[in-house]
Amino acid sequence: MYKIIKWDFLFNVFLKKYAAITLWPFIFIKSDCPPHILIHEKVHIKQQLAFWILGFYFIYILQYIFFYIKYRNHWKAYYTIGFEQEAYLVSHKNFRENYMKLMRS
Ligand SMILES: [Zn+2]
Repeated sequence: MYKIIKWDFLFNVFLKKYAAITLWPFIFIKSDCPPHILIHEKVHIKQQLAFWILGFYFIYILQYIFFYIKYRNHWKAYYTIGFEQEAYLVSHKNFRENYMKLMRS
């Protein structure tokens, strides 16, 4: 249903602040990707299937643009995207507290 591909070059050169990215049917990860991030990416695989792949990207990008215009801050926009919230709530136990701290900053 999906394939995990280790690709350090991608993260060392282009996606320096990330450890993984999911582009169905592939989960690209850094070789030192922590297990909880892999769980996060597996949530994105389920979301992408639920929204027929392109629907996921359409909604994801629209939400990012909307929240970026609202907050003028990449990380606030990123963490507010509904798909990211669901994935972080599943994979990161302190997400809610960290999110609230970020949004108050
Ligand atoms: Zn994510």
